[in-house]
Amino acid sequence: MFTGKTKNLGLIGWPVAHSLSPCMQNTAIEEAGLDYAYVALPVAPEGLKSALEGLKALGFSGVNVTIPHKVTVMPLLDEVDENARMIGAVNTIVFEAGRAKGYNTDAAGFTRGLKDNGFDAAGKKSVLLGAGGAARAVIWGLIREGIADLVIGARNPEKAEALAKIFASYIKIRVYDWNGQLFAQELKAADLLVNATPLGMSPHLESAPPVAWTKLQKQALVYDLIYNPVQTRFLKSAAEYGHQTVNGEKMLVGQGAASFKLWTKIEPDAAAMLNALRNVHNK
Ligand code: NAP
Repeated sequence: MFTGKTKNLGLIGWPVAHSLSPCMQNTAIEEAGLDYAYVALPVAPEGLKSALEGLKALGFSGVNVTIPHKVTVMPLLDEVDENARMIGAVNTIVFEAGRAKGYNTDAAGFTRGLKDNGFDAAGKKSVLLGAGGAARAVIWGLIREGIADLVIGARNPEKAEALAKIFASYIKIRVYDWNGQLFAQELKAADLLVNATPLGMSPHLESAPPVAWTKLQKQALVYDLIYNPVQTRFLKSAAEYGHQTVNGEKMLVGQGAASFKLWTKIEPDAAAMLNALRNVHNK
C-alpha cells in the first residue's frame, strides 16, 4: 500500500504506455520489500525542462529516461557520469540533495548478459553487427571488460567509422561493409558475435543481418540485443550451427536492475524481474 512515506520513481518518455519498465521495476520493489512506487510519466519533448524541474520539486528519488529524451536531457542535468558520456545518452537519473545526476546502465545490462553466460570478454575478439545507439553501449561495455579486438560490420560503414572514432583513444575498431568478403574473414577468430541492429525484431521475424555462419568458430557466443521475439532468426541460425546464444532479455533486465541499484543501493531480484517481463509479453 502507498502511504505518505512512499518514495517515487518513474519513467519519462514520449510515448511511455508500451514500456515494460513499470512492470519490471514494481516487481523489483515488491520483491525487495521497499516502500517505493514506479510510474510511467508521458513527457512531450517541449515539456522536458519543466518536467525535470517538477520531478525535483516533487522530491522524486529517480527516473528512467527513454526515447526521445535520452540525449536532449543531458545538458539539463547537474552532472553526467562517465558511462553516459561515453554512450552519449542518459537512461537513468538520480535526484539527490537538490541535484539531478545522469547515468547510463545499458553497458552494464549488456555485460551482465555476458557474465550470466560465463563469458569473460577480457583479451577476447568481438564482432558487432550495427552501429547505432545500442552498438555504442555494447562497445563501451566491451571496452570496460577489457576486450582486445573489436570489429564492426554494418550496411553503412561511414556511420560505423564515426562510431569507431569516438572510442579511438581506447581501442582501434576495424569497420567493414557487412556484405564484403573481408568482413566474413573477420568472423574466423571471433569469440563473440553481437547483433545490435533491429533486424529480426517483431513483426519482421524473417529478417536477419548477413552472417557467414560456416566461418564462425563453434565456441563463439552469439548475442542478440532483441528480446521480442525471444529467439530471432539470427539466434535460431546460431543455435543450428551449434553456438551458445543469449537474447536481449538479459540486457533489458540488467539495465533495469542497475538503475534500481542506483536509486535504492539494493541489488534487486533479477530473476523475478525477468519473470514479470515474460508474463507481460505472454499476455
Ligand atoms: P538503431 O540506432 O535504429 O539502429 C542500429 C543499427 O542497425 C544501425 O547501424 C542501423 O543502420 C542498422 N539498421 C537498422 N535498420 C536496418 C535495416 N533494415 N537493415 C540493415 N541495417 C539496419 O537502433 P538501436 O537503438 O541501436 O537498437 C538496435 C537494436 O537493439 C533494436 O532492436 C533494439 O530493440 C535493441 N536494443 C535492445 C536493448 C535491450 O535492453 N535488450 C537495449 C537497446 C536496444 P543505419 O545506421 O544505416 O540506419
